[in-house]
Amino acid sequence: APTRSLWQLLLASAQQSPAKTALVFGDQSLSYAELVRRAEGIAGWLQQHAGLQRGERVLLWSQNSLEFVIASYAVLRADAVIVPINAMWTGDEVALVAQDSGARMAIVADEFLPRLQPLIDDGLLRETVCIGAALTRGSTGRVVPWAAVLDAGVWPRPHRAGPQDLAVLPYTSGTTGRPKGCVHTHATVQAANRAAAAWRSQGSGDVFLAVAPLFHALGMQNGMHLPLMLGAGVVMLPRWNRDAALALIERHRVTTWAAPPAMLQDFFANPDVTPQRVRSLKLVTGGSSPMPPALAERMRAEFGIAYQEGYGMTETASFLIGNPPQRPKLGSLGMPGPGVELRAIDPDTLRELPAGEVGEIVVAGAQVTPGYWQQPEASAAAFIHIDGRRFLRTGDLGHVDAEGYWFMTDRLKRMISVSGYKVWPAEVEGKLLTHPAVREACVIGTPDARSGEAVKALIVCAPDAPIDEAQLIAWCRNTMAVYKAPRLIQFVPALPKSNTGKVLWRELQLKERSS
Ligand code: ATP
Ligand code: MG
Repeated sequence: APTRSLWQLLLASAQQSPAKTALVFGDQSLSYAELVRRAEGIAGWLQQHAGLQRGERVLLWSQNSLEFVIASYAVLRADAVIVPINAMWTGDEVALVAQDSGARMAIVADEFLPRLQPLIDDGLLRETVCIGAALTRGSTGRVVPWAAVLDAGVWPRPHRAGPQDLAVLPYTSGTTGRPKGCVHTHATVQAANRAAAAWRSQGSGDVFLAVAPLFHALGMQNGMHLPLMLGAGVVMLPRWNRDAALALIERHRVTTWAAPPAMLQDFFANPDVTPQRVRSLKLVTGGSSPMPPALAERMRAEFGIAYQEGYGMTETASFLIGNPPQRPKLGSLGMPGPGVELRAIDPDTLRELPAGEVGEIVVAGAQVTPGYWQQPEASAAAFIHIDGRRFLRTGDLGHVDAEGYWFMTDRLKRMISVSGYKVWPAEVEGKLLTHPAVREACVIGTPDARSGEAVKALIVCAPDAPIDEAQLIAWCRNTMAVYKAPRLIQFVPALPKSNTGKVLWRELQLKERSS
């Protein structure tokens, strides 16, 4: 049972092995003892000089870096709440989140300071700590450089946060609408971490590669809270670069890596990746978007790497269910771990469906958010009660098979209606990806006079595998039900993706429906 705060878990790891390397970034590394010491220094300054109060929200805006982790644990040490900010957001988007979360303080990497400057000038933020050479860039308002904060030498007040206190307020990816703040306590984050570690048998001997962004649920769990709770090592990369990732895996003998499929696809398309060079890598954990089963199989057969699918969301502090390591099923999201329950409901009547039927997935478990931040209506709509237990509606459609494995059809919001027949883009994309000429695919609906909507596929071709539109359409009509087969194919050089590795299908779909 979670009886401690995330800070106390880090302290426990540091007491266990103070000299052990916790974090590696470029040529810098930080021991557990040093990580704790720096976080305490920053926490002391935040409390004594900036007046940070218990429960107050602090924006944290940085790519993966040592400072991201130090700042996070400083905020937790000070009994306050981290609000991670997406590196792609504009100043306006951050302003919305500052207002929504009520944060009056920010810790920002100097590359993002110009985008934050209007908030500082408008007085929205009363204190800003800048990681890097803040004041040399003509910034106005109250901005204090990281080094000055670190050197201030002030000791924080005693740590008081408990399991039920707020720890993190991450925002969802905004794939289906405006990002929503998900309330997470020390207990919910811990529950997700414990479930993940137990399911995957990760431990202090592991070295994690943290290249998925730390500001997003998947990266935050697997690049920070989980490895530090385990007393493991973390090797960091600020942005995706497949050559750099390969070099780090080889040099630091990385054993485990959590990555969205887009990264894995790019990584394993690199001819420099050989079994010899990645031999330390035993376990890759996935999630975020659908993984092509063929790639998972190739990782196992060619490289001896176990790929373990996982399913979760910002609302569940990442990991919720996963493929059991001993008997993974390709293409499945996995099965619920201890304490987690999944059901499928009819999204219209909200009635539970018999096992095996496809419906909206609803989830219950200790890692599920208590609710959306200051959105009583969205929160009320998101939760339902079944058998006296509170379940979160995921907005995802799926079903469970006879052995208890869950499969995801697609997001509810992605449905395309062709003459009244429901088409799920993820299914069509999955089929398209089995064609050797197709490297990436995104399926959307396009207005059609006869059928209401028709299926359209945007395709990124594999190099050296030429195919034309007519050939691919003909292949599709032989491979899937005719109403599912794309009627239009458009070849594109690349698909737009978020920095969390998700194809931005909503943008493409909006453009198509309005054109
Ligand atoms: P928003 O909620 O703002 O629309 P989002 O749902 O993309 O954005 P996240 O919380 O980052 O925000 O993503 C969670 C979603 O990612 C899940 O609801 C699911 O649709 C998708 N997802 C997660 N894991 C998997 C997986 N293994 N396979 C397919 N899709 C997945
Ligand atoms: Mg979502």
